[in-house]
Amino acid sequence: MAANSGPIRYSLVIPVFNEEAVLPILLRRLDFLLSRLDGPAEAIFVDDGSSDSSSIVLQALAARDARFRYIGLSRNFGHQVAITAGMDAAQGEAIIVMDADLQDPPEVIEQLIAKWHEGNDVVHARRLSREGESRFKRATAHLFYRLLGKMSSVGIPADVGDFRLIDRKVLDALRQMPEQDRFVRGMIAWLGFRQAEVTFHRLERAAGETKYPLFKMIRLAMNAALGFSDLPLRLAIWCGLTVSAFALLYGGWVVVMWLSNDAHLVTGWSSTIVLLSLLCGMNMLMTGIVGLYVGRIHAEVKRRPLYVVQKRAGFDRNEAATVPAKHAINE
Ligand code: UDP
Ligand code: MG
Repeated sequence: MAANSGPIRYSLVIPVFNEEAVLPILLRRLDFLLSRLDGPAEAIFVDDGSSDSSSIVLQALAARDARFRYIGLSRNFGHQVAITAGMDAAQGEAIIVMDADLQDPPEVIEQLIAKWHEGNDVVHARRLSREGESRFKRATAHLFYRLLGKMSSVGIPADVGDFRLIDRKVLDALRQMPEQDRFVRGMIAWLGFRQAEVTFHRLERAAGETKYPLFKMIRLAMNAALGFSDLPLRLAIWCGLTVSAFALLYGGWVVVMWLSNDAHLVTGWSSTIVLLSLLCGMNMLMTGIVGLYVGRIHAEVKRRPLYVVQKRAGFDRNEAATVPAKHAINE
């Protein structure tokens, strides 16, 4: 088929962290998807330090099927870094990031591509609903996107994860942003370009369990808040000012009491303790907020590489091979 020869047009980037349960059906769906696309495509699996059989399965696949590539990171670097590693290696004219667990349905990719053909540089997929996720996750996600929208001056679209298509020129610009604490969807929003969206209903995980426990969700939310807003810092100033204003008022009241020789002054030790501990708490909170930003500066000045690649497979071929007549993925 002519559509499947020549330089790569589409690069799929798929982060994988202990996804052995879902790989068989993912590979079948990808196989089908790749054969339907209107140009040569590659699928890049980024193994984010998996300790199950995912790495073996994916390496074997990359060795036998020219459409698949494998990047093994040296440890778990986290989802955002994993997708960065995959995008860095992408050769296509359009790059699509999707999750391995089929919560981002491969069929939606064809809609993303249709929008790209209309001349859009960034096409993101917005979730209309989320199935199979806990009430807590849905509620926190809802709150997170609304709050982030209010805090950030960059128009980060709500209910949009990392499932999106970006044009090669957007990727080239993105690769010039080497920041360590990454919130990729925010960085792409910051870049601008011509953006469009498609909508979809987010399905339940096809198999396996979430690899995003609460602490990873909090870390992502912190990176978003700190990386795309200076509101926490401004909050510190406003809190400081408010407390100082109260302290001044209270001071004035004490002076008035002293002038009128009120007995209250001697017995007021408990209010002193309350105020003191309140102020101490405020101080620590504000120092903590400043500390978070300093920590980010610290991460930047160390200038460490974002990730370390342990193994690559399937990259020696520069072009996606023609789809074999019967390419078997017999997992
Ligand atoms: N993932 C990853 N590294 C991590 C955590 C997750 O590469 O440290 C991958 C995971 O394999 C999946 C995608 O990121 O392909 C999204 O993770 P998951 O589906 O567990 O997140 P959720 O959909 O529950 O938010
Ligand atoms: Mg998922």
